[in-house]
Amino acid sequence: MKVYNFSAGPSVLPEAVLKRAQDELLNYNSTGMSIVEMSHRTKAFDEVIQRTESLLRELMQIPDDYYVLFLQGGASTQFDAIPLNLLKTGKADYVVTGNFASKAAQAASRYGDIKIAASSKQDNYTYIPDLTGDIFRPDADYIHITSNNTIFGSRITKDKIPTTVAPLVCDCSSHILGEEIEVSKYGMLYAGAQKNIAPAGLTIVIIKKDMTTYPMDICPIMLKYSTHAENGSMYNTPPCFPIYMAMLNLEWLKEFGGIKAMEQQNIYKASLLYDYIDSTDFYKNNIKPEDRSIMNVPFVTGSAELDAQFVKEAGANGFVSIKGHRVVGGMRASIYNGMPVEGVKALVEFMKDFEMRNK
Ligand SMILES: *Cc1c(COP(=O)(O)O)cnc(C)c1O
Repeated sequence: MKVYNFSAGPSVLPEAVLKRAQDELLNYNSTGMSIVEMSHRTKAFDEVIQRTESLLRELMQIPDDYYVLFLQGGASTQFDAIPLNLLKTGKADYVVTGNFASKAAQAASRYGDIKIAASSKQDNYTYIPDLTGDIFRPDADYIHITSNNTIFGSRITKDKIPTTVAPLVCDCSSHILGEEIEVSKYGMLYAGAQKNIAPAGLTIVIIKKDMTTYPMDICPIMLKYSTHAENGSMYNTPPCFPIYMAMLNLEWLKEFGGIKAMEQQNIYKASLLYDYIDSTDFYKNNIKPEDRSIMNVPFVTGSAELDAQFVKEAGANGFVSIKGHRVVGGMRASIYNGMPVEGVKALVEFMKDFEMRNK
């Protein structure tokens, strides 16, 4: 049975991308072998990593004074790498808007004086706090934000991204390529690939070149941005297959019309869900409307039994991995770039039908 996959990550990829990977799997670009068997030092793979970087630069309009690094260890490894590379005087400010944001701050607090400049934890992360520049210390080495909160389903909209003196560092794991991001506003952006770029195993770091020159003495060689920048992300074996998959996905996105066109479609997909949820008392989304994510849409019925019933019946009808994260409960529909509009429409129809039968 064909299913619609609403997993938060690893998550749905465009069917055309998977098809192309399948077609090319046994014989990549007439080399007579698979991309997964190939040395990363071959000309064929070098072309893959170069093309992936140039497509990402083109689609995200990444300025020349930024490196694009292809790393491993997930976004979570960056939670340590960031303070180890970017603490200069030892002070950094964090905005805590969800679980991952909190983990990032916790990791950093082992290396320096970390201030939580703003948090919505006391209200269960149901909104984004005001992020005016004056809440941050003027002498902080960097400010860390998480622009889309995967578990709670909130995001920092473009108009709320703070203007700060210190460089802004942003975990954009769950909406990179899903909406436009003005790279030049940031010192560093990073994302685990398994939400909206590629299979698990690749982490992308986009960092201003002048921010890679002052790692702490204790920073492990493998975590230094300079190590990977100086070696074109090939200091050691890079995650070749996820990089190749990222290339296919970026080509697909370019053909689609780029990030702006994709953002329009994502806004539309999210509105199909939110408009319906808001139109009925049966389902509820607890995030302040202007802070809602367009990638992760959590909802509850208000009854744990009904939620469990929903998840079970949804699965049986081909809407899979829609159970909410264990810290939130209920349901969560993750509707990344690879989720077609029809998938969201079909889910809304299923939700209506479930409501009719259970209200
Ligand atoms: C999934 C996710 C992470 C964790 O990513 P890993 O690759 O599992 O380390 C961190 N931040 C955000 C916003 C995420 O969505």
